[in-house]
Amino acid sequence: MRTYKIAVLPGDGIGPEVTREALRVLRAVESAAALRFEFKEYACGAGEYLRNGDPLPAATLEACRAADATLLGAMGLPDVRWPSGTEMAPQLDIREQLDLYAGVRPIYLYHEAHSPLKGYRTGEIDFVIFRENTEGMFASRKNATQFDAEEQCDTLRITRKGAARIARAAFREAEKRRGLCTLVDKANVLPSMAYFRHVFDAVAREFPTVRAEHVYVDAASLYLVKNPRRFDVLVMENLFGDILSDLGAGLVGGMGMAPSADVGDEHGLFQPSHGSAPDIAGQGIANPVATILSAAMMLEWLGGEEAQHGAALIRAAVAKVCGDPANLTPDLGGTVGTVAMGEKIVAALESAA
Ligand code: ATP
Repeated sequence: MRTYKIAVLPGDGIGPEVTREALRVLRAVESAAALRFEFKEYACGAGEYLRNGDPLPAATLEACRAADATLLGAMGLPDVRWPSGTEMAPQLDIREQLDLYAGVRPIYLYHEAHSPLKGYRTGEIDFVIFRENTEGMFASRKNATQFDAEEQCDTLRITRKGAARIARAAFREAEKRRGLCTLVDKANVLPSMAYFRHVFDAVAREFPTVRAEHVYVDAASLYLVKNPRRFDVLVMENLFGDILSDLGAGLVGGMGMAPSADVGDEHGLFQPSHGSAPDIAGQGIANPVATILSAAMMLEWLGGEEAQHGAALIRAAVAKVCGDPANLTPDLGGTVGTVAMGEKIVAALESAA
């Protein structure tokens, strides 16, 4: 029986609360499928910076490199900042260090009661954002801030390699789904985006069965709200992906329903799309579904028949629990707490196994 070594980085705010529920669900998978997990927790985040002066200890990064996969809760606290004024974001450092270039963010509606849009039924909002994770506007994030200067510039960096590999990952996904791949850009104004589009178009020719299109980011924001059903796979630069994946999450109930995978050619890290949500931390009301679905994405990425089986069990349990409007967490307008939601998903998984 295969044992997977999983580095667990619970992090800050609601991170430990939602991670605990994902681990509970993964333990239930062990009982239902022929696989085992060796979970080991590592320190990381703004809290770790306050304790030891480094938000990403070298031992934590090495553990992520050595593990079969990493499961992460959430990082960062609004009051803990670098001298530049920016927040601690070790998850971004891990993406860069492990070359996790594809931020894969599925947006799926589990029940119409979750969506602020009227008239959409389960499964009718179903698209995936591929966020480029290692360059774009975020390439400037380590610039020093010149508080006494009259201006500050951040440079948006697109490389041929970076654009081509994220485009290829998106096209591969579109081949497996409904066959539409949309580049979201601002190529009418920014030369870096015209360049991204040029590279995307070249990659598109490798995928003759996928329909490729371009939509400007401003129009994409409009269409995502007015007609989200038209999208299948969307690929975009880092900052656009950061913003539009929150918009996507909003369409299906909020950040608590939005899982993500940060994957490269060698390593994979799985975390909810949300941050540490300090406004609700410690109250037991965070929605753990995004983290639980991220754990399912982890199993799919690990591959192998038993891991796929485990992922399918998690997905079916989440669909069953979230398909019942009696099971709403407070972010969805209900009263089911973090632990109760985790327990309901475990119960559904166990009864189906
Ligand atoms: P980051 O920039 O680090 O991604 P953020 O500043 O975008 O973080 P989040 O921490 O994602 O902010 O929180 C955004 C909003 O979503 C907050 O109102 C927060 O309470 C809510 N939220 C985030 N995650 C969850 C969750 N799991 N359950 C319920 N509400 C959540």
